[in-house]
Amino acid sequence: MRPDVVIAGAGLIGMACALECQRRGLRVTVLDKGRAGREASWAAAGMLAAHDPANPRALHELSLLSLALYPAFLNMLTEATSVMVPFQTEWTLEEADGAHADAVPQSLSPEHLQRIPEHSVDPRQLSTTAVVALKARRIELHEGEALQSVLSHQGGVEVCTDKDTLHSGAFVDCTGAWSASYVHPAKGQMLRVDAPGALLAGALGNVVVRTHDLYLVPRLDGSLIVGATVEHVGFDKTVCANDMARLRARAVALLPTLLTAPVLEQWAGLRPVTVDGLPLIGLRSLAEVDAHVYVAAGHFRNGVLLAPATAHVMAQLLLDEAPSIDLNAFQPEREALREQGKGRDDAPPR
Ligand SMILES: Cc1cc2nc3c(=O)[nH]c(=O)nc-3n(C[C@H](O)[C@H](O)[C@H](O)COP(=O)(O)OP(=O)(O)OC[C@H]3O[C@@H](n4cnc5c(N)ncnc54)[C@H](O)[C@@H]3O)c2cc1C
Repeated sequence: MRPDVVIAGAGLIGMACALECQRRGLRVTVLDKGRAGREASWAAAGMLAAHDPANPRALHELSLLSLALYPAFLNMLTEATSVMVPFQTEWTLEEADGAHADAVPQSLSPEHLQRIPEHSVDPRQLSTTAVVALKARRIELHEGEALQSVLSHQGGVEVCTDKDTLHSGAFVDCTGAWSASYVHPAKGQMLRVDAPGALLAGALGNVVVRTHDLYLVPRLDGSLIVGATVEHVGFDKTVCANDMARLRARAVALLPTLLTAPVLEQWAGLRPVTVDGLPLIGLRSLAEVDAHVYVAAGHFRNGVLLAPATAHVMAQLLLDEAPSIDLNAFQPEREALREQGKGRDDAPPR
């Protein structure tokens, strides 16, 4: 049967959009050039950093909406799969404005680190569960099938892939850093060490520590994520020994017990970034040729956080409803993007 919407890209953004559209009654087909959830969404640290002062101000409302939707998003996944995706942490110690955290004192409540209520999730657990949820909800998922072109016509779109031609009412580009719109890759390298209890803070449980150039994100399994670089080097996912050594040294300077923590894994992922650091959400353009063609991409350092809200407003747009929040700042063809350059070089590491 002809789907109402075809979504290209099965990262967290595409999968969240697919699940929300299906929940709202639309028939959805999702395609991914590789395996679902294995690109940026697999590489992320998983902080739901809605209150990070480094975020663009224009992201605030979307971030708050997403935070508010997160419990329902996780519940929906549990209902579909019987798998619970737990919050990994409940608190973050963030470097206070202008201060430099050179070490994390034992009390974990120093003056230069402010304690903020902020959850983190394991994005791999989230991605894996979202794939199972797609299948449980009978959403068609075509892995290993790459989008090639989209042709808009009266009443719908023709989506050409390297394997097939699909017809549907609408199309959403959720291909992240690979989006044909104004999106570029921003490489992030990270490592994971074995460090049970390294950031256990009494009654607070495990806490995230975030400074201007580093973050430490503990997982419930006793491992600790150390991240991350922000590099504008195209579609390169090479892991560099020097960068890893630098990250590690910075982590040890902050938390000396990490000196002996065995490294479990090192990787790199490609954040989808735009020149103004804001995502693209909406009709790809107002041109006739782009009727029924939407974009939800460019979520840069906050795609894990923003997945539920992006899905929520994208379903509203597809159903011709007024979106819950003003999406003006996220218009895919906004002026700020036309003079396209590289992503921001001064971004903090996430
Ligand atoms: C090191 C690092 C740390 C991060 N930390 C955080 C964090 O703490 N918190 C947070 O909220 N965010 C974080 N992020 C950002 C977050 O990972 C991204 O914003 C988010 O994953 C983007 O999701 P996406 O679905 O748009 O992209 P992706 O997950 O990259 O998915 C895009 C999908 O599109 C597919 N695709 C591409 N081209 C085609 C094509 N032609 N046809 C079909 N499919 C195609 C790809 O295979 C891929 O599966 C981090 C990212 C990195 C790299």
